[in-house]
Amino acid sequence: MATIAWIGLGLMGYPMTNLMKEAGHTVIGVDIDPAAQKRARENGIIVVDTIAEACSNADAVLSMLPTGKEVREVMAGHNSGVFANLKAGGVVVDCSTIGIDNAHELHAAAEKAGVAFVEAPVSGGTEGAAAGTLTFMLGGADEHIERVRELLKPLAGYVAHVGGPGAGQSAKVVNNLIMGVCVAVNCEATDLATRLNLDLKALFEIVIRSSGDNWAFRLWNPAPGIVPDSPASKEYKPGFKSWLLAKDLSLALEAGRSVGANIATAGAAHAILERHVKDGGADMDVTSLLLSLAKQ
Ligand code: NAD
Repeated sequence: MATIAWIGLGLMGYPMTNLMKEAGHTVIGVDIDPAAQKRARENGIIVVDTIAEACSNADAVLSMLPTGKEVREVMAGHNSGVFANLKAGGVVVDCSTIGIDNAHELHAAAEKAGVAFVEAPVSGGTEGAAAGTLTFMLGGADEHIERVRELLKPLAGYVAHVGGPGAGQSAKVVNNLIMGVCVAVNCEATDLATRLNLDLKALFEIVIRSSGDNWAFRLWNPAPGIVPDSPASKEYKPGFKSWLLAKDLSLALEAGRSVGANIATAGAAHAILERHVKDGGADMDVTSLLLSLAKQ
């Protein structure tokens, strides 16, 4: 069993640490949010104040942070970062969605520091994080992959080694382009259906048996009371915060620009989501976009 330093005990990180603990690993957590620290401590996770302290005896460091900015700070921070404090032979696995350019930057910094680093963004939502059924998209050198696969076993339903540096984030950006557009269109469709006086429960039963069916519609239906455990049925508590999906769509747009791909639909979804974020929806679940559309 390993000692794991875990950086980021939020909506995804916290349930993932539970599974690691249940699998018999020792988990030492770090988070800047006192509420996240408290919740983890109450569940038997050791929480420390500094990355240096968490890394001092860790065989592996896993991170689940909001954006590339936090991951770069946490990993490559001068003296205080993971790369500077990892013991010899340790491995670093970042599970955050940070985009392709940040992934390349981190792989280069890790190489310079002589650290084994694998990018491992995930899909499956907080539901998958709690159930240990996440899909992992690994990017990094072949030599580290088997070890990381073994480490991720308690968390994963499926682990794909997509390729070298940047490949895992490339796959994640593409997946979330599809998911983000689905979330936006599910909210638009639900708003339209409401205005057309359709019974939303009856519509749900039709769509999940029809060509409009999609994962987000079934699990994250935007209308309250349709899917019992959905964020919409829990006053749009996240789940997946709107500002994080806006971030993911902007990563897709950035990727599209870098290779000249026309991803206009993603641009439209990003624009309506950004408006919702600015209108106060940032920390609400992505499906709360429906509330903004309903006001228009
Ligand atoms: P979250 O905001 O709930 O959690 C992030 C945690 O990181 C917070 O607790 C925050 O306090 C902590 N943090 C921020 N800066 C820190 C720092 N410098 N040091 C230590 N802790 C720090 O977000 P989340 O929903 O858990 O998402 C995490 C990542 O996973 C994001 O990149 C997101 O895009 C991705 N993701 C989320 C979902 C989802 O459904 N929520 C699904 C797949 C992927």
